[in-house]
Amino acid sequence: MLIGIKSIQKGLIEVVFPHTCLVCSAKLPDSEYFVCRNCLQNKFEIANPDGKQFSADMIMPEGVILQHALWNFDKGGYLQDLLHKLKYHRLAGVGEDIGRALGQNLIKNPFFRNDTEMLLVPVPLHKRKKRIRGYNQAYYISKGVQSVIDIPRISQKALLRVKNTKTQTGFTLEKRRKNIEKAFLVKDPKAVEGKTCIIVDDVFTTGATTFELAASLLHAGAFKIMITTVAQA
Ligand SMILES: [Zn+2]
Repeated sequence: MLIGIKSIQKGLIEVVFPHTCLVCSAKLPDSEYFVCRNCLQNKFEIANPDGKQFSADMIMPEGVILQHALWNFDKGGYLQDLLHKLKYHRLAGVGEDIGRALGQNLIKNPFFRNDTEMLLVPVPLHKRKKRIRGYNQAYYISKGVQSVIDIPRISQKALLRVKNTKTQTGFTLEKRRKNIEKAFLVKDPKAVEGKTCIIVDDVFTTGATTFELAASLLHAGAFKIMITTVAQA
């Protein structure tokens, strides 16, 4: 039954979005879903080509041992368009495609370690926002990452976004911090205890969101934090 529904869904998606690359419109082979390999490899600017520990030029909070981004955000360009499609058009497959590219890039970073108990932590959405948007894009990006780095992902019941934050675009750093303060609740601290958590999100801007989540995870007993995002503004 589940397979039936899935294939119907896939069929519908293909009617609305024919099997061509969302970026360059080239016809896609069956093994590639939404974005062609050529675009994933060449269309965007790599954010951290030298494999630095912290891709953004800022001071990281205590406990954050890696902050990694795949591509530089190109305002008004292909990447912005792609991330917008991912966020608002329920294109789960796009999230998995770019999540896979993100994972492949992440494991090349010399500061990436997979030697403690690891946990993938997509930034959760507030349930009201999730209902409106239909799904959480960070969750699908993390599924793509997971196909490269085979580690568990946090249960969606263990970590909640308890504050329905306003969109942060145009906010000052101070306003962003206030807006996101106490937004997350680790409902099941045992799920994160002693683990190195890889926070997964679409865009890293000021770090207000991921740093707040990092603080909540560390407070609940997480060992260390890595942050990985598709884009960096
Ligand atoms: Zn393409």
